This record gives sequence, structure tokens and C-alpha cells, in this order.
Amino acid sequence: MNQNTLYAESANISELTESFKKFFLNDSSESALQYRKLTNQVAGYISEQISTQKQAYSGKSPQALTTQIADFEMFPKDGTPLETLLEHTRDLIINNNISVYHPNCLAHLHCPTFVASLTAEMIIAAFNQSMDSWDQAPAATMIEQAFCNELCRVYGFDNQADATFTGGGTMSNFMGLLLARDHFSQQHYNWNIQKKGLPPEASKFRILCAEFAHFTVAQSASILGLGENAVVKIKTNDFEEEVSALEDTIFKLRAEGLIPIAYVTTAGTTDFGKIGQIGNLAEMAHQHGLWFHVDAAFGGALIFSEKHKYKLAGIHQADSVTVDFHKLFYQPISCGAFIVKNKQSFEYIRLHADYLNPESNEAFGILDLVYKSIQTTRRFDALKPFLSLQHIGTEKFGEMIDYTIALATSISDLLEADPHFELATRTQINAVVFRYLPEGEHSVQVIDDVNNAIKTQLLLSGKAIIGQTSVNGKAYLKFTLLNPMTEKSSIIDLLEEIKRTGLKEMLNN
Ligand SMILES: *Cc1c(COP(=O)(O)O)cnc(C)c1O
Repeated sequence: MNQNTLYAESANISELTESFKKFFLNDSSESALQYRKLTNQVAGYISEQISTQKQAYSGKSPQALTTQIADFEMFPKDGTPLETLLEHTRDLIINNNISVYHPNCLAHLHCPTFVASLTAEMIIAAFNQSMDSWDQAPAATMIEQAFCNELCRVYGFDNQADATFTGGGTMSNFMGLLLARDHFSQQHYNWNIQKKGLPPEASKFRILCAEFAHFTVAQSASILGLGENAVVKIKTNDFEEEVSALEDTIFKLRAEGLIPIAYVTTAGTTDFGKIGQIGNLAEMAHQHGLWFHVDAAFGGALIFSEKHKYKLAGIHQADSVTVDFHKLFYQPISCGAFIVKNKQSFEYIRLHADYLNPESNEAFGILDLVYKSIQTTRRFDALKPFLSLQHIGTEKFGEMIDYTIALATSISDLLEADPHFELATRTQINAVVFRYLPEGEHSVQVIDDVNNAIKTQLLLSGKAIIGQTSVNGKAYLKFTLLNPMTEKSSIIDLLEEIKRTGLKEMLNN
């Protein structure tokens, strides 16, 4: 017998496995008790922190955090009791998180989360189902598929459409452009990229989008082997996409011997919350044989708003759509979806692994979702929006979206009327871009510097996390007003704080 066999059969082996048990969730009553006790302890820390945190951030500097982390030996030989460890975790992490629940957390599409989705996270983590194959996630597979089917219906697609969950907008945009590229090659050159790699014509492929499209369009082009230079950015009119500019660009590229393969429209630009005329853009793209992808990472949630869903009119004409649940759907990270109009398109990425999704499974009606994902092991994230929407209902959810848009509109009005501020443009969702204007005449540089300083001062003091961006090369500030619990008065207070900080900066320089 070899060493290993001896080890596994030694007399005190049950003592050994017993000693492992307390580290896992298992069928013993001690385990159940410990799990409840520890989750209670954590729940206590979390709710205490959220209810007592006065600021959006503790204000700890990067250096102070590094010092605090240095107290931990990263890979200790001996373990620490979890109760103690959780206390340390509270002091280091829980107390120094950005509070996504705080009204002054406004920089990004970074959302507070629904309680229903937090209970879903507990279930997802505890049962650890994996969505790649049915034998790792039977009920979860069926729920995800049912949710995806209805998601397609909600956006107006028929039953030729299908969807999959992704890690977020980045992955969904990547999948859209991956299918666009592979479809174009198959259609026009009878060339299977999955098998043969890029066709000779690929160096002429062009992906079109507006200048304010998300950077992941360029990132996707790069990963897809087309190169970032394959992305042609089209000028907008007051940040909005124009159909005529799309057509002009297609003609111009063709005249140069280049091959436009896809157009990406952004339903809700990250910075300005702008949505183009999706239906008209779709018709133009299709008229010229382009794949039409809608990046609705930001604006996708408007579909549940009776007041604002008209802004997504025509979205069902898309060949593919990005939806991001960890933004305006208030889900914990990560949670996104990718919809494709023709489910056959998933064939471009289908692979079979004998161990995972053997073709024989299909005969039994067993659904292994791995074939439509570029991930293998995958979380059961679908449970989060499923439980949330079951709990809240689409009507109440729609009211939340309506409220945030109304808030952003009313704050935009205030900014427009206040001589200390300049509004960049009117948003169609809830991102508001503006800048502080110090009194008197100042150079562009001085105004840029004071705006950048305001943003950093507020972050490092923990008072507010606000966004920054640039418009025509000038520094601007941004509020992403996606928190439906935020009242107008707290934003007014923050604007006053911004003025005070701006004034102080001007006096100091
Ligand atoms: C946030 C965002 C993305 C990227 O999505 P992630 O979920 O961060 O990967 C893509 N497009 C738009 C318009 C976005 O706002």
C-alpha cells in the first residue's frame, strides 16, 4: 500500500475528518448553529454600520488603510477563530467601505441594493450551484432560463430570441461584438472564425459607435483581434447619436474600401445618460447589413417605467442587447444579461466537453447552459433579479426609476439657474454633468483645477463621492442620481458644500 492509502485508512481517520468539519457548512446541528450565529454577527455589523455611518466614506487615506492591512499576516500558518476575525474585518473593511446607501455616493452607476437580492446572495453562496451544467444546478438552470425567456419578451423580442446571464455590461458588450464578428464572417465569407480564426478581410472590419460609447466597445475590438483602431467613433449632436451621421460614416468607410460590420448604440451613455433614436438607428444599420447592438447597461431599466420606456422604442429591432442588473436594477455585483434576437447565433460559440455537456444530454431534455456563455463555472446570479422583482413588483420598481429621473431633472433645473454652476447637457436618465464656476474671470486651467480639487477634497474627507469627466477637454463633475431614497434637499446641501469647497480652494490658491 502506498502512503496515501495508509493515510486515508488509518485508525483515527474519523477524528481527522471531524476536525475539518467545523470549517464547512455541513449536516451537523453544530454547523447549523454556527452558521446562524456567524451570519447573525455579520448581519449585526452590517446593519449597525449602515445605520450609524454619517458620511459616504470614513475618509481613511490609502496610506492609513495600508498600515491597517499590514497587521494581517496574509497566509498565517495557524487560523484565528471566526468571531474574532469578523471583528477585525469590521474594523478594517466594513467601517471603511464606500456607503452605496448614502445620498452622497454619487460618482458612478454604483447602486444601493435590494434586501431581496441580499437574501438571494445568501442562498447563492450557501448552495453554490454552478450554471454551466444541469447536474450542478437543476432548479437554478430552469429558473435562469425562464427568467431569460421573459426578459426577451419584456424587451419586445419573440421566441426566436434568447438570453444568458453575464458578469456585467463589459462581458455582454463583448458577447454582442463577438457574435457580430462571427456572424458577419459566416454570412459574407462562409468563414467559421471559431474554427479557422480571423478571415483575411478582418483587417478591414470596422465597428461603428458614437463618440460617447462605453470604452468596452474598443476593449472588445481589441480582444476580438480586430484592434481598437477598428472602432470608428461618430460625432454626436449635443451628445446624441444621429442617424444621418451613421449613414455618412458607412458611406465614407465603404468608399475607403473598409467593411463596417456592426453599429453599437448606447441606450444611456455612462456620463450623460443620453439615448438615441434606437428604432431609426436600427433601420439604418440593418439597411446596410450591419449587426445592431444596443448597450442598455444604463438605460435598460427604463423598460419597466411607464413614463420613460418610450425612450427605448425600437430596442426589439436589435440583434443583441446588453442589460446590466447591478446598475439601475439595484442588484449586488455582479449581475448582467445578454440578449440575442436569434438564438441560433449562440451556435457561433457552442462547444462540447464530454465531461460537462455531452450531446447525449440534449435527448433527455437536460439543459446545460454552458453552450451560450463564455464563462464555464458561473454563479446563479439570476436568483437576485428574480427574487427582487417577485418581491417588489414591476410597478413599484418603475416608480423608483421615475423618481430618480424626476430628481435628476429637478437638480438640472437648479444647476441651470445658478450662476455658480454650468450644466453640460440635459440628461434623459439620471446622470447630471456640471461644473463649478468661480466668481470672476478665470483661465480654463484654473476652473479645471478647482473642479478637480472639489472632487478629491470631498472624497478624501469622506463627505461625498462625486464623479468627474471631461467635456470638450474641460473638467466637469457628475452626479449619478440613481438612488431612489435620495431626497432633493440632500443634493441641495451637497451643492452648497461644493460651493464652499470651491470658494476655499480659490482662496487658498
Ligand atoms: C457600466 C457600463 C458598461 C460596463 O458594464 P460593467 O457592468 O461595468 O461591466 C458598459 N456600457 C455602459 C453604457 C455602462 O454604463
